[in-house]
Amino acid sequence: MPAELKVNPHASGEDALPSSAARVAPAGGRAYRLLRSARRTVALQVDDTGIVVRAPQRMPRHQIDAFVDAHGAWIERQVQRRRERRLSSLRTLVRGLSLSVLGRPVMLDIQDGVRRPRWRGDAAGGDVLVLPDADPVRALETALRARALTWFEGRVAEHCHVLGVAVPVVRVGAARTRWGSCSQRSGIRLHWKLALLAPELADYVVAHEVAHLREMNHSERFWSHVSTLCPDWPALRKRLRREGEHVPTFLPPGGGDC
Ligand SMILES: [Zn+2]
Repeated sequence: MPAELKVNPHASGEDALPSSAARVAPAGGRAYRLLRSARRTVALQVDDTGIVVRAPQRMPRHQIDAFVDAHGAWIERQVQRRRERRLSSLRTLVRGLSLSVLGRPVMLDIQDGVRRPRWRGDAAGGDVLVLPDADPVRALETALRARALTWFEGRVAEHCHVLGVAVPVVRVGAARTRWGSCSQRSGIRLHWKLALLAPELADYVVAHEVAHLREMNHSERFWSHVSTLCPDWPALRKRLRREGEHVPTFLPPGGGDC
């Protein structure tokens, strides 16, 4: 079973393994995703996919519906909070915008007639990323994905060396609800927006996924491997939940359709 770090660029997701297949169920006009498992209580969560309900295997549907209905006000508050958070993380791409990419300052330039993104050093030791005028948002993602991949591959190799495991294939992705995932078959996948967080946070996610190469679960043994790679992980994990909520979403110059 693939183990995944369920943290969301736009949400404070819990790190957990999915327990059963999900399905969408209507409840008094409010649809939710139902995850049944061996748990004893019902839990509600609002994420990018909408409302998620975790319920015991045999709890009748009408009881679950009633639970969701009874928490309508709470759900509305979560939806509103998520909307505000999303608005506050929007960044319009303009010439001169500066970003921190894996801890290095990067200044953006947008030029007419440039076909693809190009990196250039500046006099102050920072980087300048030149983006084409046509679709700079996509070009920025392309450039950051490439830079992130190189960095991730280096960190994965280092952590694998420490744990004595073979270096897997590393890919950069854009999963909706997870910063990273790891499976024996397809290797390690990491979200490109980790490049926009502090490097120690990105490195915690890399260490977390590498530790899954030894333990495909979140057992004590798994966390002891994480500790070996990243002793400060409890604090970093908390910071990732907090700071991950504010990772930017980019809009084209002149505003998007959001
Ligand atoms: Zn995990």
